[in-house]
Amino acid sequence: MAKEYNITRTAGLCAACRQELQPQQEFVATVREIAGEDDEAELVRQDYCPSCWEPVREQTTADKSVLGIWHARAAAPKEKKKTFVDDELLVSFFDRLQDAEEPAKVQFRFVLALILMRKRILAYDGTEPGQGDRPWLMHFRGSGRKCQVVDPHMDEDKVAEVSRQLGDVLEGDL
Ligand SMILES: [Zn+2]
Repeated sequence: MAKEYNITRTAGLCAACRQELQPQQEFVATVREIAGEDDEAELVRQDYCPSCWEPVREQTTADKSVLGIWHARAAAPKEKKKTFVDDELLVSFFDRLQDAEEPAKVQFRFVLALILMRKRILAYDGTEPGQGDRPWLMHFRGSGRKCQVVDPHMDEDKVAEVSRQLGDVLEGDL
């Protein structure tokens, strides 16, 4: 049985100073993987107000357990709770999972690739020639940067489930 993630949603507080993020305030959101008991792992959302982010920025960016970092703005009171997830975040998440081998992360990365294809950011070029389980060859439409994506052979239900998990942790519509 593949590892499953428990996902912690944002608390609406700065993770360092514990101040509530005010409507419209800019902040930095991060998603960190924390190993739990057995095979469980948790994806933890931690948000930082700008003054708390500066001192931890370098360390957090270098930390391999941090899977996503993006700049966000707290919702205004009347705005819908769900926000638009920007492309930069999706690409950052996708890139940070590049060397991941755990099944749950491979699945996340594959679903991110599907989303980036749907958004016409990534293009599919075929599969690596040869035998066996061949990765997808892809490139970014803007820069031409090439990348490979492992195909974990998920069925439609699994793709839908992983997409929902991603939407939960990113708190937005994908
Ligand atoms: Zn703070």
